[in-house]
Amino acid sequence: MAVSFLRRLLPSVSLLIALTALGGCAALAPTRDSVPDAEPQAAAFAPSTSDRSSLRETADTLRRTPLTGRTMRVETIDDIRLGPKEVILTFDDGPAGQNTRRILDALDAKGIKATFFMVGEMARNNPALARNVVARGHTVGSHTYGHPNLAAMSHADAVAEIARGERALREAGIPDLPFFRFPYLADTTALRGHLAARGIVVVDVDIDSKDYFRISPVRVATRTMRDLRRRGSGIILFHDLHARTAAMLPSFLNMLEREGYKVVALQPARGNPALVASVR
Ligand SMILES: [Zn+2]
Repeated sequence: MAVSFLRRLLPSVSLLIALTALGGCAALAPTRDSVPDAEPQAAAFAPSTSDRSSLRETADTLRRTPLTGRTMRVETIDDIRLGPKEVILTFDDGPAGQNTRRILDALDAKGIKATFFMVGEMARNNPALARNVVARGHTVGSHTYGHPNLAAMSHADAVAEIARGERALREAGIPDLPFFRFPYLADTTALRGHLAARGIVVVDVDIDSKDYFRISPVRVATRTMRDLRRRGSGIILFHDLHARTAAMLPSFLNMLEREGYKVVALQPARGNPALVASVR
């Protein structure tokens, strides 16, 4: 499934490295561990998971723990304002089979909601999992179709790539796409203007977990906590593509909770029709 998507990224390795140095979203650097994360389509999602009882989904949506923060309703980029000890968790580049499922379970266990910036090609290959993310009360944003560097393309091609990604997500069953994140965080002023004119909020990154490097899950968690303590709050970038991210998330969430942080749920100001439908 995602193999072609990952393979297409190979020519841009050097660019990725350069962008990584700038703190960009380099999750899809074709490190060797990226490919095993990409599961065969048949195994990517058990249909039964999407058919869980509405009771279970309602319970997950309503559960609260000391980590559960407020819901932030956002209409423009200026509405994203975090107070001290508030974080927004974002997971990019999925949905990606087992790793995404483990992340969803870890979030449910703490009664918190995240935002998933999905790649259109990944959602096309895992539509049931993409819908399950929404059904479990999370917010989905788009992240292009094939994860190219939009800043390196013509404006017209970049606009078409964004539209293709949105189309793939809608075809996977996610109609509402109020948020966008630039692959590799590589933006242009013109593209930001294009998205803003369409009422789409670009969600930037304050803290890059760098979970795309081949480092241990413990290192991802401790380094991200260190950066968070320095900053005090922020939007954290993770990638549900990676096994190390799924592995470290429960202990990372425990650390957040112990240190008194709250996880803020990002929602569009106009509401989330899919979420309403899921808890009806
Ligand atoms: Zn990405």
